Amino acid sequence: MTDIGRWKRRAARKAEVKGRAREPSHMFKMCRVVGCKNTARAGTGDGLDTRFCRSHADHYARHGSPYHASFKASEINPFRRAAVEWLVVNEGDRVVANALLRVRRLYDQAGPYVEAFRLRGMPPKERAKAAWARLRQHEVDPRMVVAAWLAVEAKTAADPQSETKGEFKRVQAAKIVHRLASGSHKSWPQGGGKTTELHVYPASRGNVLRHIGEDIEQAAELVTERYVKAVTETLGRTNRRAAPRHLAVRRRFSKRRSSSSV
Ligand SMILES: [Zn+2]
Repeated sequence: MTDIGRWKRRAARKAEVKGRAREPSHMFKMCRVVGCKNTARAGTGDGLDTRFCRSHADHYARHGSPYHASFKASEINPFRRAAVEWLVVNEGDRVVANALLRVRRLYDQAGPYVEAFRLRGMPPKERAKAAWARLRQHEVDPRMVVAAWLAVEAKTAADPQSETKGEFKRVQAAKIVHRLASGSHKSWPQGGGKTTELHVYPASRGNVLRHIGEDIEQAAELVTERYVKAVTETLGRTNRRAAPRHLAVRRRFSKRRSSSSV
C-alpha cells in the first residue's frame, strides 16, 4: 500500500471513531440500576463515574453497593460477637496471631495521629491511614478489627439475599472499623462559665472506605478460611438433621420395617 493509501485509510478510520463517539449512548446516559429512570450523573471528585444517577451514586459511595442497604447493627452484631469470642478462644492459633500482627502493623505504619478537624481535602489513601492512626491512638483491640471482617464474611455466607461482591464486603467491614474510633472532640471555655464544644466525625463514605476495607481484607486473609471452616464444622456437629423433629416432613421409608413411623 502506498503512503497516500495508508493515510487515507487512517483518516477514514479516525472520522468513523469520531462519529461513533458523538452518537448518544443509552448505557452511558441512564442510571444502571434496574428500574431506575434517572439519568446518570458524574460523581463529584469521589472517584465515582457516570454509571449511576446522583442518588444511586451516593448510596454506592456510602454502602459499597448502589442499591443494597448496609447491615443493620442488630443484624451484624451477633456475628461480630461470635467472631470476637472465637478469636479469644483461638488466641494460640498461628493464623489468628498472624492476623492480629498484621493489624498492629497497620496501626504502627499509619503515621502520626491526625485530628478529624484536619482531614478535609486529604486524599482518600491518606485519610485511610489517618483512620488506622486513630484506632492506634484510642487503643482499639486489634481483635475488633479482625472480627469485623470475619463477621461480614459469615453474615454474607449465611444470608442468600446478601450482596456477595468483594467491594460491598470491604465497605461493610470498613464502616464497622471506621466507627470504632472516629470522632475528634474539643471544648474550650467561653465567657460566663459557658463552654463551646466541637465534635467532628469523619465522613463514612467514598474511597477512604475502600482503602480501609482492602487493608482489613489483607490482614484477615489467612484467618478467614480457618474461621469459615470452624463455623461450618460447628454447624455440622450441632445440626445433623436438616429439619427439627417436631416439624412435619416426609420421613424416609425404612426397608426393614415397612410400616415405618419414624
Ligand atoms: Zn438511579
